[in-house]
Amino acid sequence: AEEVVGRHAADAIPGWTAIEPSIPVADTPTASPETEMLPLELKGREAWLSIAAVAFAEGTVYAFRDLTADRALEELRSDFVSTVSHELRTPLAAIYGAALTLQREDLPLDEAQRANLLAVIATESDRLARTVNDILWASRLDAERIQLDVGTHDPRELARMVVEAAQVHLPENVALRFVCGDDVPPILADPDKVRQVLTNFVDNEVKYSPEGGTVELSLERRDHAVRFSVSDEGLGIPPSDQRRIFDKFYRVDPNLTRGVGGTGLGLYISRELVRRMNGTIWVESRESEGSQFSFELPVATG
Ligand code: ADP
Repeated sequence: AEEVVGRHAADAIPGWTAIEPSIPVADTPTASPETEMLPLELKGREAWLSIAAVAFAEGTVYAFRDLTADRALEELRSDFVSTVSHELRTPLAAIYGAALTLQREDLPLDEAQRANLLAVIATESDRLARTVNDILWASRLDAERIQLDVGTHDPRELARMVVEAAQVHLPENVALRFVCGDDVPPILADPDKVRQVLTNFVDNEVKYSPEGGTVELSLERRDHAVRFSVSDEGLGIPPSDQRRIFDKFYRVDPNLTRGVGGTGLGLYISRELVRRMNGTIWVESRESEGSQFSFELPVATG
């Protein structure tokens, strides 16, 4: 108030003269006035304001609503629609192509070729199911429709199951290692959700290591918690993106310049699940060197 009261809007608000003519001014106050979305440069950041105005004999009353956050979310959502369409269309095209080839009577296929085409159908259907599952999980989390089944569980057992499942479809250039201390105590957690988060970490690390490398899952005892960490030697994440990758729909490379697809939902789901189990989740990463994703869950006492 000290800075602006008593001053002319044009002096107090940078850029005001440029946007003023675009603001619709009503003659009488109404419940739903006509508004205009306009950008203002405020203290070095761009704010998107929804502005309405009513003229009185004594002057004009302007009402501002800051919609910067809504606009950013809207942008992410529109990126999301295009990535998801891509994520659905690519496997569908592969499945359709394989099925058509299998159907052709004029094209003799040997056993190996048939097995290859069936394998394409199986893996691509799996990819489709994962994408659809991510979307379902995200919407369940939004609607608070998640039941947790928290109990005392051996973290080593949970991690081992994830590692074994991941070994089955590991690319040739990626090695998966599991490291676990002897003193890792039982945790208080929902076992399915722990596996879901770990699987998401491992899948990401394999996916974002296009040149291959070692993915290592490790378990470590902390004061009152067990720390799960999964590290890779892949693309890494620029510092400016590290905080945002846990946000819904956020992807570092939405335009697929690096050719790795995804929905931007996996880490959001992971963060929400860990939070609901009273844990913490974070990432450490260096661009082009690799990333380490970690979470800690409370030790079961008694
Ligand atoms: P996505 O389906 O896009 O992989 P996630 O929510 O799992 O969605 O991840 C969000 C973004 O974080 C990814 O788009 C990617 O840019 C980045 N990311 C996640 N894991 C890694 C990793 N291990 N290495 C590099 N980038 C990663």
